[in-house]
Amino acid sequence: MLIESAKKTLKDIFGYSDFRPLQGKVIDAVLQGEDCLVLMPTGGGKSICFQIPALTLDGVAIVVSPLIALMKDQVEALKVNGVEAEFINSTLNEEEQAAIIKKAVKGDIKMLYVSPEKMNSESFYYTLLQLNISLIAIDEAHCISSWGHDFRPDYKRLGYLKKQFKDIPIMALTATADPLTQKDILVQLNITGANVFKDSFSRPNIYLEARPAYKRKEVILDFIQQRGRESGIVYCLSKKNTEDLSRYLKANGISSGFYHAGMNSDVRDRIQNDFINDRIKVVCATIAFGMGIDKSNVRWVIHHNLPKNLEGYYQEIGRSGRDGMAAHALLFYGQQDYSILESFNEESERKVILNARLERMLLFAQSNHCRRRLLLNYFGEWTVDNCGQCDNCRGRQNLINGTVMAQKALSAVARLSGKLPKSILPQVLAGLRSPDVLAGGFHKIKTFGAGKELSLVDWENVINQLIGLGYLKVDYEQGTILALTPLSNKVLFEREEVMLHHLHQKIQREPKIEIK
Ligand code: ADP
Ligand code: ZN
Repeated sequence: MLIESAKKTLKDIFGYSDFRPLQGKVIDAVLQGEDCLVLMPTGGGKSICFQIPALTLDGVAIVVSPLIALMKDQVEALKVNGVEAEFINSTLNEEEQAAIIKKAVKGDIKMLYVSPEKMNSESFYYTLLQLNISLIAIDEAHCISSWGHDFRPDYKRLGYLKKQFKDIPIMALTATADPLTQKDILVQLNITGANVFKDSFSRPNIYLEARPAYKRKEVILDFIQQRGRESGIVYCLSKKNTEDLSRYLKANGISSGFYHAGMNSDVRDRIQNDFINDRIKVVCATIAFGMGIDKSNVRWVIHHNLPKNLEGYYQEIGRSGRDGMAAHALLFYGQQDYSILESFNEESERKVILNARLERMLLFAQSNHCRRRLLLNYFGEWTVDNCGQCDNCRGRQNLINGTVMAQKALSAVARLSGKLPKSILPQVLAGLRSPDVLAGGFHKIKTFGAGKELSLVDWENVINQLIGLGYLKVDYEQGTILALTPLSNKVLFEREEVMLHHLHQKIQREPKIEIK
């Protein structure tokens, strides 16, 4: 049995006695030649998912990775363990590349790491034709989707692989992909029939907190000072923010550097290395910083500005606490950031969807509900459990029983499944005969006007909460069409209680300066 031999390899090469549950399933499927999409949080053990099949199957596995800086380290680590691994990317000269290709063609390499640029070159395509390829693994697969926050045009072209190499299993791996991105990965790679393996996205060791953007610099300085030698990343929206904040921290005795795409690569590499090797404690950076940074003891991540969607937020906070020890994610939010980010979307053809995702980000920040619950539901991991240890779980939530409101809203969606945009539902519930309602025929359903006791604004609030908590979902691909979720039925048919924020409370809590 292949899986038995895979287990032996795991033990012999990596020294682990068993697969983690999801790893076992993924490896089984790949060994049977199936395409897979693997969603595992950072630290979940994605590498083993392709390394073990690579060592078990005949031929050479191609591993596509965007992290040129890391390829060398990964390959060297494998070589130390006796694995015949090599990499090809622009850091090697032509002779070096030719030597590796020769070796691969001879069948002397089990794992070949390749940059996406190289993968797309015509000459390399002819190389691929000469190889006995066992599988193609595409790491950081969210880079293929322009919905993702790390879109790379070179990834987009990898769709040819399945067309040209029909019988070779393709494995896409990522640590962040919301449902929209997941689907896009499958479509772009032409593997819509792939098995999708999903691990829980919960990272319970990361404490989640959000605050209004008030005296940010002072709060950040205080936060860092209270944390002694603990290191962390402050994500900022603009290059100028990163520089200003880093200077401010430095002036206050904190060892800090800044990092953004406008700097030359030598300086960026130096900052990155200084951070990884604990020579500086803090990096103030744009989102250009972080992918593939393998630093296990990042103890906190601060978002100085609102991220543009929850997918990016989750990815960035995931850079903390990779060692499994306690970490802290602090998010600042404000209307000003929101407006700036909204203006960035103005020119886009996909403005409606981008804005819907941005709004979801703001609602998350402003919410009084358990943040972990909101995040997991966003990623389609339907749950009604509160984590008990985020800022909102620990603070006073001031909730009301919203079961009846929820039932009304959900039953309207059930009746208008696949047709009802988010913006129209409040009008339907409040019984407003607006042109949109009449045009859609929405006034003919039984629940029309079932919620006359609440205003449009209140209904909008209720619906946003129901979406956040996973009782309703928005199909962002279809604009903002609402649909039921696996959590909906219990509310509709089993009278499960739904607790909502008080509708008239001021959502922005009093700013507080002291932390902990
Ligand atoms: P990811 O790429 O998903 O962030 P890695 O592949 O780097 O995660 O693995 C994270 C850590 O888990 C590594 O230290 C790895 O050695 C360890 N690991 C992976 N699989 C196993 C296993 N089956 N048993 C024990 N440790 C494992
Ligand atoms: Zn919580």
